[in-house]
Amino acid sequence: MKYIFVTGGVISSLGKGLTAAALGTLLELRGLKVIIQKFDPYLNLDPGTMSPYQHGEVYVLDDGAETDLDLGHYERFTNSVLSKLNNLTSGQVYANVLKKERRGDYLGKTVQVIPHVTDEIKARINEVAEKMGGDIIITEIGGTTGDIEGLPFLEALRQFVYDVGQENVLFIHVTLVPFIKAAGELKTKPTQQSVAKLREIGIQPKVVVCRTEYPLEDEVRDKIAMFCNVAKKAVIEELDADNTIYELPLMLNREKVDELVCNILGLETPEPDLSEWEAFVHSVVEPKHQVTIAVVGKYIELQDAYKSIYEALTHAGAANDCRVEVSRVDAEDIERDGAYAHLSEAHAVLIPGGFGDRGTEGKILAAQFARENKVPYLGLCLGMHIATIEFARYVCGLEGANSTELDSATPHPVICLLDQQKEVQEKGGTMRLGAYPCVLAPGSKIREVYGVDEVRERHRHRFEFNNHYRQQLEAAGFLVSGTSPDGNLAEIIEIPDHPFYVACQFHPEFLSKPTKPHPMFSGVIAAALAHKQEGE
Ligand code: GLN
Repeated sequence: MKYIFVTGGVISSLGKGLTAAALGTLLELRGLKVIIQKFDPYLNLDPGTMSPYQHGEVYVLDDGAETDLDLGHYERFTNSVLSKLNNLTSGQVYANVLKKERRGDYLGKTVQVIPHVTDEIKARINEVAEKMGGDIIITEIGGTTGDIEGLPFLEALRQFVYDVGQENVLFIHVTLVPFIKAAGELKTKPTQQSVAKLREIGIQPKVVVCRTEYPLEDEVRDKIAMFCNVAKKAVIEELDADNTIYELPLMLNREKVDELVCNILGLETPEPDLSEWEAFVHSVVEPKHQVTIAVVGKYIELQDAYKSIYEALTHAGAANDCRVEVSRVDAEDIERDGAYAHLSEAHAVLIPGGFGDRGTEGKILAAQFARENKVPYLGLCLGMHIATIEFARYVCGLEGANSTELDSATPHPVICLLDQQKEVQEKGGTMRLGAYPCVLAPGSKIREVYGVDEVRERHRHRFEFNNHYRQQLEAAGFLVSGTSPDGNLAEIIEIPDHPFYVACQFHPEFLSKPTKPHPMFSGVIAAALAHKQEGE
């Protein structure tokens, strides 16, 4: 087993996760079995309880782990099958250490960061290696070198080199090379200092990936090589991708980073066949058609809050030879201005997941607009609740219908708490989480879209369609078209008398990959395209 550790320098938000993921793509295409994971130095046990303002999207895995959004990149860029083992936080490390302390495992010793915390971190790497197998584990270390909270991780990794042998480990440092306008120059000093910081801890990266807005001139490469103690060919230029993040593997391959990594780790591998990836990028960059999809949410100004949704739209767009223009609509603006003002140009409306009542009345207006004007609609999780509430209120005449999450005193709780949630007290890790099977109704739109009878999809919710209202809604033209195998939980709803009005309780965005777009997203893009062409 070989180990790559990806650290970050100078600033956060450098795209370390994407770099790790794109390297994973290249190594997989060289025939290696790759596992990618993330260590996060914060003290939360997982990001599940963090606000999107703090953390962006919470990415859910098959096993129900609520993880960092970088794991989404890993799954989209590679075939690595991830589990809760693949996102370790300081909080988990300390929780384990303290559990062992209470159990008496430390036999009367003083429990300390070194060796107990560092041992715990190393044990996790070994556990992943043992349980998941493979040729290579890429581990991204969250945060920025120099952060106090990252130190135990870096010390553990320094020791790890000693445990498994220099020849099996490679540190890659991703850093910023800023352009200073006044001087008209790229500056290498922050990079030098951040690598020096790593050396101070006893870690020497052998590859330095430089995030830069301008190409690295020879002179800049020389300087970084010289002052960071790396070979010149190991100074890698990583420009901002012009069109799409999916260009990154191709860009890194042009910098020969995959060849370099294999040479350093003594792995003999063939050149990667990039043709499928290139074809995908081509269809993202130069499609024939274009559609506009309105995403109506409450965290619309945040780049990362609906990350997987935006990626899934890109994948589905490529599959339909179509550029997807996302119109980000704040639900509260619809409350103020009405739906028409913000949605009249959209070829489809998408309502993502969410929590709490802010903006939900605006989302209900958006759903109504889509239903009445036959605009394709895709509702995800909360977006299914919204569609149900809208239908109950404005088609069935159930005045005041709502979800008990949004209005606990509603006379018509068409969405209510799941039975299994009624006793739940703690917030963290207690939702209905992870992959569950869903049976699709014969003859339904969604059955046609998926092309199979049963699917497995990932969930993250506490509230659910209230079966008490099923008959009444279905009599009025609503259809529960996907359920749990026992028939008890409504997982998908649709309106048969509408070109495409579908919503699901799960999060299909977590299962979409570049060359394997998710049927629900492909479905809504195809419908959006048809809707657009009809209007022309
Ligand atoms: N807040 C809703 C629930 O808990 C929807 C959750 C979501 O959209 N992920 O059921």
